[in-house]
Amino acid sequence: MKMIAMDGSNISFFKEGLRLDGRRADEFRPLKIEVGVLARADGSCYVEMGGNKVIAAVYGPREVHPRHLQEATRAIVRYRYNMASFSVEERKRPGPDRRSYELSKVSREALEPVIFTSYYPRSVIDVFVEVLQADAGTRTAGINAASVALADAGIPMKSMISACAAGKVADTIVLDPMKEEDNFGQADMPIAMTPTGQITLLQMDGHLTKDEFQRAMELAIKGCRDIYEIQRKSLIEKYNQLGSELAVVQEAEVL
Ligand code: ADP
Repeated sequence: MKMIAMDGSNISFFKEGLRLDGRRADEFRPLKIEVGVLARADGSCYVEMGGNKVIAAVYGPREVHPRHLQEATRAIVRYRYNMASFSVEERKRPGPDRRSYELSKVSREALEPVIFTSYYPRSVIDVFVEVLQADAGTRTAGINAASVALADAGIPMKSMISACAAGKVADTIVLDPMKEEDNFGQADMPIAMTPTGQITLLQMDGHLTKDEFQRAMELAIKGCRDIYEIQRKSLIEKYNQLGSELAVVQEAEVL
């Protein structure tokens, strides 16, 4: 095991072809999705993506306050990304900062294109994403959670949105970089997309050649497609479970 220099220059990102956490280059971290975890929200979702733990809550469509934000022909979407002060190694100063404003904006823009906002003029759909534990990739974990929470809230959507990052470490293109890879790697490229391939978020930190960009895109798209299947399954699971509970209640009423 090499020592890690402050700039990450001596870090060994691979051991016998595998990454620091034992993954292959094209694997994302274990993903767990739980739907409907908050009683008071209209829709909610808890996501664990490797070391990331995030919770999304959706409220609405509901009345807009302050009123001057109302749009006559559509609902507005508000997205608040917030990192808990205990979510990172050294206490994060609580409250909004430049990074959380940016992540809230790009995450909203990643989800808005699939929401039928014209169905709900003069209203607001509020999405809150709380990061409880961060390990790089919190924006993508947040978008995945928010997308499921919107569906759980019954908000009409053209499709789900799935998000995943690809990165470059030790000249290798990898899927879903974790903290060490994100901090000391050569590039990080989060994307979000619909299952049919419409990209709604594309950001990049670092440097990639044209060919590397192409490969990173392909890997991230494959990651999003796999994540979509897990999102879908988690929603079906919840509603199957509700269906069976309802059937039991109906049976009891008949007897
Ligand atoms: P993302 O979490 O979407 O990858 P960044 O690339 O900005 O977003 O952040 C990468 C990681 O760096 C975060 O997931 C988190 O682990 C860490 N990080 C971000 N902001 C802070 C902070 N203020 N204090 C400590 N760690 C942070």
